[in-house]
Amino acid sequence: MKQYASMTHAEQKAEYDRLLNEYRAFCDQHLSLDMSRGKPSNEQLELSMPMLDVLHGQHDMRAEGGVDIRNYGQLDGIPEVKRIFADLLEVEPDNIMVGGNSSLNMMFDCINWAEALGIMGCTPWAKLDKVKFLCPVPGYDRHFSICELFGIEMINIPMKEDGPDMDLVREYVENDDSVKGIWCVPKYSNPTGITYSDDVVRAFAALKPAAKDFRIFWDNAYCVHHLSDTPDQLLNIFTACKEQGSEDLVYEFTSSSKISFSGAGIAVVAASKANMADLKSKRTIQTIGPNKVVQLMHARYFHTADGIREHMKKHRALIEPKFNVVLDAFDKELSELGIASYTRPNGGYFISFDTMPGCASRVGELCKQAGVVLTTVGATFPYGKDPEDKNIRVAPTFPSIEELSQAVTLFCLCVKMASLEKLMNA
Ligand code: PMP
Repeated sequence: MKQYASMTHAEQKAEYDRLLNEYRAFCDQHLSLDMSRGKPSNEQLELSMPMLDVLHGQHDMRAEGGVDIRNYGQLDGIPEVKRIFADLLEVEPDNIMVGGNSSLNMMFDCINWAEALGIMGCTPWAKLDKVKFLCPVPGYDRHFSICELFGIEMINIPMKEDGPDMDLVREYVENDDSVKGIWCVPKYSNPTGITYSDDVVRAFAALKPAAKDFRIFWDNAYCVHHLSDTPDQLLNIFTACKEQGSEDLVYEFTSSSKISFSGAGIAVVAASKANMADLKSKRTIQTIGPNKVVQLMHARYFHTADGIREHMKKHRALIEPKFNVVLDAFDKELSELGIASYTRPNGGYFISFDTMPGCASRVGELCKQAGVVLTTVGATFPYGKDPEDKNIRVAPTFPSIEELSQAVTLFCLCVKMASLEKLMNA
């Protein structure tokens, strides 16, 4: 197939008319498919159903150390869960605080506390004229929504193949004391799927921020979510920080949302001793203790970090074929037309898709009219504004293979139509 841009106008028109007929046939099917959010499928949730049985009929409701999990207490989590997550994140259990079911909630808390109370005695951000966050783009929309809610100004930082543009990050962080944070999804990034290189991680650790209360929000949501026999390796940021004496720079987050249940998992924050003391001083006023029943259930079901790693293979078996359906369709339908590029991740939950500049919203619109909902176009950028209108986050995990095949066929059709519309009007 010829590249679309090298077709004559008449050829483009003929191709467009052919596609339009196919598109109309799709519309007549009145599809209702959702490729919008990175949710686990029902089959994935079923994998953890036996976890609900592990406490049933048990009389020993004590965690290691003797705390009765049904009662108040153990603010930072039960020892066995702290140990599992410490192993996963390669930190010490003392550097872990277990929260509720949502790591996003913990990120929100950290920002809320920084705004209202200040980090380690610094001026609360809410009292400052201006607070800015750096946002590697494309990125995770819910990170950006937190900043938007608090009126934190967001600055786009382009993503390179091995992570954010660190020259730009350094320039902002080291010269502007109103820059207080940066959002990072360092492994199998949402949505690009890339993992930061060792050099990038070391460059983060070596930052010398102008603001004492600058923090890296290291959202390691996909730390064990591999889709490959040769998984990406992420350098441990705390190890890199130790070499620089900069451990206070980082708040690291993860959760079991996409390991066990998204609605009833366990979230944690990992941080230096000083940060941990600061965070706990706030958390201890906020709650008398987390949900430890859920914690014990996880500990008695997974036992160890290796138990989790084994379990993740079952997730992979369910979702890898879905990624392949999407990528095979892209390869077959689009790769030769010169109108799109897309990532081929080794893990995580997303494929990042770039149309020709100026086409993404039109693709979203065409898909929606035909009954397929995509992640809102633009959502991968702060304020929902993709300056080039080209990025679309594709989330293959939730629909069934059959639904996904239909949805991706339609998606490719819409990408072709939107591209031809652009080229014919140029
Ligand atoms: N961080 C990232 C990068 C995510 O993609 C998601 C889920 N889509 C979350 C955090 C949400 O995590 P949790 O369920 O632990 O709040």
